Amino acid sequence: MEAVCSKKLIKSKSGLRIVVTNDKFRSPFLLCEPQWTPDSESTNCTACKVKFDFVTRRHHCRRCGLIYCGSCCESKMGLPRMCFVDPVRVCNRCAFVTNKESDFFDRQLKTLTSGATFLLDQRLSACPDSVNSLVCKLSQDHRYLVFEGRTADSVSSVELHQVKTLGVARDPDTADSEEELKGISSVEIVYTDGSQQNEQRVKLCSGPEPHRKLANAWIDAIQQAFKLLYECRSDNSD
Ligand SMILES: [Zn+2]
Ligand SMILES: [Zn+2]
Repeated sequence: MEAVCSKKLIKSKSGLRIVVTNDKFRSPFLLCEPQWTPDSESTNCTACKVKFDFVTRRHHCRRCGLIYCGSCCESKMGLPRMCFVDPVRVCNRCAFVTNKESDFFDRQLKTLTSGATFLLDQRLSACPDSVNSLVCKLSQDHRYLVFEGRTADSVSSVELHQVKTLGVARDPDTADSEEELKGISSVEIVYTDGSQQNEQRVKLCSGPEPHRKLANAWIDAIQQAFKLLYECRSDNSD
């Protein structure tokens, strides 16, 4: 499942980018470079509306492609979702969004690819009451959820774009909940299997310690991952 894929360096007008040679192996978290708004279409800054002239110059935000004055587009930031090698210029709004995403790319993506141990709750599928443990991780190219472990045979890997819904439930950790169940989270992944378009589901529960903390962090991370993916999907449908 882990495809070995080569990368290449390409130069766009925004800067150098490292991208995979074959688009088929592209991480689903990546964004396409935006089209730059032509200079002729913009006489004023998109944000503060100041008029451009010889002193007040136009600057393109590398993330949204719109035109701003220098002070509305002054941040230079790493933009992992567009694969830029060096920090690039972004507008204040895109700087805010990029900052919010940085925790995902710096920390949560590693949690996802390292994987975590879960209990497999199969009560919703064929085997009633059987609860087993398995490891779930995101593949290195970020395209698949893969399952490992003795009981993983019953669950084949899931391509992220086949996931329809992701339902996260958290134990409210209330004082009167049973000690056994405290701090347990679960994630139910509903997906279509490629060939037959049948709806499948797998439910992963964070088991007892020592695995629980990492499993809960993994569930937080996959929830954040899908927020980013749904944003991409709606962007691309524009
Ligand atoms: Zn401005
Ligand atoms: Zn922007």
